[in-house]
Amino acid sequence: MTQRTQVGIVGAGPAGLLLGHLLHLNGIDSVIVEDRSREHVIDRVRAGVLEQGTVDLMHAMGVGAGVQEAGLRHEGLYISFLGQRHRINLTELTGGKAITVYGQNEVVRDLIEARTETRRPLYFEAEHVGVDDLDSSQPLIRFRHEGMDHELRCDFIAGCDGFHGVCRPSIPAGALTVYEREYPFGWLGILADAAPSSEELVYTLHERGFALFSMRSPKVTRLYLQVPPSESIENWSDQAIWDELLRRMTTRDGWTPNVGRITQKSVTPMRSFVAAPMRYGNLFLAGDAAHIVPPTGAKGLNLAASDVLVLARALKAFYERGSSDWLNEYSDRCLRRVWKAQRFSWWMTSTLHRSPDETAFDHQRQIADLDYLTSSPAAMTSLAEQYVGLPMDVSFESVGLNECRRN
Ligand SMILES: Cc1cc2nc3c(=O)[nH]c(=O)nc-3n(C[C@H](O)[C@H](O)[C@H](O)COP(=O)(O)OP(=O)(O)OC[C@H]3O[C@@H](n4cnc5c(N)ncnc54)[C@H](O)[C@@H]3O)c2cc1C
Repeated sequence: MTQRTQVGIVGAGPAGLLLGHLLHLNGIDSVIVEDRSREHVIDRVRAGVLEQGTVDLMHAMGVGAGVQEAGLRHEGLYISFLGQRHRINLTELTGGKAITVYGQNEVVRDLIEARTETRRPLYFEAEHVGVDDLDSSQPLIRFRHEGMDHELRCDFIAGCDGFHGVCRPSIPAGALTVYEREYPFGWLGILADAAPSSEELVYTLHERGFALFSMRSPKVTRLYLQVPPSESIENWSDQAIWDELLRRMTTRDGWTPNVGRITQKSVTPMRSFVAAPMRYGNLFLAGDAAHIVPPTGAKGLNLAASDVLVLARALKAFYERGSSDWLNEYSDRCLRRVWKAQRFSWWMTSTLHRSPDETAFDHQRQIADLDYLTSSPAAMTSLAEQYVGLPMDVSFESVGLNECRRN
């Protein structure tokens, strides 16, 4: 079966779905091709912290009802070290901005519903997905769906297929420069049926390593522990996980997470990765397909949102005015924001984790870093403005949306 569309989108994660809806709102056709099932995509437990700009974007796009109803707005966060929690007031330090805790799976569910309502094509469980003719004016997406082979000719392909997708590896060797850093640790993450004992996130540096207290709802806590990168989850009984979490997180004033039934647990390695440029011919990479940040800074999904906003702006300029200027600038514009998020995520990660090869000097420097951070208004302001999200490079108005701030 042969089809044609303006923009072929590979991947129905946050990047692909947000892009599809932005294009729809601007009258641009797209087809989204996803290799996993709808249920798998919705159930995948990952990000939870949305920057102010991402939440504003969802509202401006008309897909903010869920985050408005169930999102947990946080006006501050805690940094904990030497057994003491220190609060950083994000909202006061950023002129009213905040972060919102709303699971990535909920974001994806809302966006799939919105896509379904538009009646524009979204193929789940596509097999043998491949891209071709990338440097031609009509690049191609091939896939097999429900036993039928499809060829989708496009003006442009958006590679929104995450770190392990097919788009980036289809770019000829030598056309991309890869910048990469692996960390000597990973995160063991759990979801637990336990009411959060803090209304805000608590980032902890303990002498046994990093831990993070977070939540998904008023009844569900999300917690993370620093572990070796190749750690097997089988090595951790539920009891051992709770013992270690409580050991690292309990503070001298007696604050501690509530314990409950663990409903999900997994280990994720951590890396920083950038592939540049984020374009080859008429293939544009967006989100995790082009860059990965360690999750400490909570930036991955938010970067996916800012990338596709720039891409939608560029495609709008092309289809409305025949201008390729924005398309030509796409990669440079995105990478400026990406590298700032990389720097922030690296800094949060290296300041809050214990490295196997660190010296006593390194650890004392970390403590001094955190002491300075939590006692200097200038340092707290710097963290706050990066944590709630640096400004997006493109105005919402330029993609036909109203600027929108909901608190
Ligand atoms: C433990 C953890 C915590 C995190 N916390 C945060 C946080 O708090 N805040 C934040 O902003 N980010 C966070 N992140 C990062 C965030 O989850 C990712 O950055 C985000 O998912 C990127 O979205 P994406 O659409 O670019 O890629 P993905 O979500 O990976 O989506 C890519 C899609 O493409 C599909 N696909 C892959 N290969 C193919 C193929 N060959 N053909 C078709 N489809 C394909 C995949 O199935 C998937 O649906 C976290 C990540 C982890 C692991």
